[in-house]
Amino acid sequence: MRTLVTGGAGYIGSHLVDRLVHLNHEVTVIDDLSTGNLTNLQAVHSDIRFVEATILDADIVETLVGDADVVFHLAAAVGVGHIIEQPLRSLVINTKGAENVITACVKHDRKLLLASTSEIYGKTAKMPMSEDDDRVLGSTTIARWGYSTAKAIDEHLALAHAEHGLRMSIVRYFNSYGPRLDPRGYGSVVANLMRQAIDNEPLTVHGDGSQTRCFTYVDDTVEGTLRAALDLRGEGKIFNVGNDHETSIIDLATTIIAMTGSSSAVQHISYEQRFGKGFEDTKRRIPDVQRARDVLDFNAGVALQDGLQRTLAWWRATHR
Ligand code: UDP
Repeated sequence: MRTLVTGGAGYIGSHLVDRLVHLNHEVTVIDDLSTGNLTNLQAVHSDIRFVEATILDADIVETLVGDADVVFHLAAAVGVGHIIEQPLRSLVINTKGAENVITACVKHDRKLLLASTSEIYGKTAKMPMSEDDDRVLGSTTIARWGYSTAKAIDEHLALAHAEHGLRMSIVRYFNSYGPRLDPRGYGSVVANLMRQAIDNEPLTVHGDGSQTRCFTYVDDTVEGTLRAALDLRGEGKIFNVGNDHETSIIDLATTIIAMTGSSSAVQHISYEQRFGKGFEDTKRRIPDVQRARDVLDFNAGVALQDGLQRTLAWWRATHR
């Protein structure tokens, strides 16, 4: 197959590219290298076509989509920190950029895999989160919810076009982690805490650390993405792609300290200190994984300890 991966130099995108190359598919990547990095594609760069461009360039997007059979749309402004620091840029990329990709898929009749997010569910208290659940969001004056809203527009757009024949499926990622996480890029608590532990700096836990996430190893994230895109049973559907084991941030911090043998301690910092006034966090986040199991035979099975060990091994090998 000829595949196009938008955001293919990014953290999840580059792992997906590795898998597609390994499976002998043709791969083109479009990435503006804003948070992506060419070193992520080092191992495969001679096997792929790389185009440095933004998905805001509708002409380039249309040409590249026309050259592909399947389009994996992963390019996005991600990470709570980025969304809050650059709300305008994030909104434009995550709506206008996605619209360019979706519209081109419609025009050329190409299969679309839309990468979405568990942030879609917002701060709902209903656990686990099922794909058809209500979304619960805060005020528009809180920048964080703009990410959820933008991704929801993309989902609506893809679903609406599907009624007119677009072949597509949607995946909602739950806190992916693994090699190539960049504390300066996607950010993420795993990357931040691991870097702090290795550098023997205090591990910054926001609030009391009782908030939970379900951490999903990147190989599982990629496997769920591939299945949703390529298994015909997944067509037209939305899937949670995540491990359903719940971990509090304070437990994550102590696990990372123990695993790295760090002399660091945990340092609690308030949300206000980190993000300024009026920040809202998601207290718990657990995926309902039944649909992905039933339809795609997919299970995100890598345990946190195992995934963290693999991430740490990569970190030590690359950060000398
Ligand atoms: N977090 C933390 N310390 C950090 C980075 C994040 O305590 O250095 C917390 C953050 O406030 C949130 C959780 O870890 O409650 C997950 O944050 P992340 O940005 O990784 O993902 P998301 O909030 O999108 O789930």
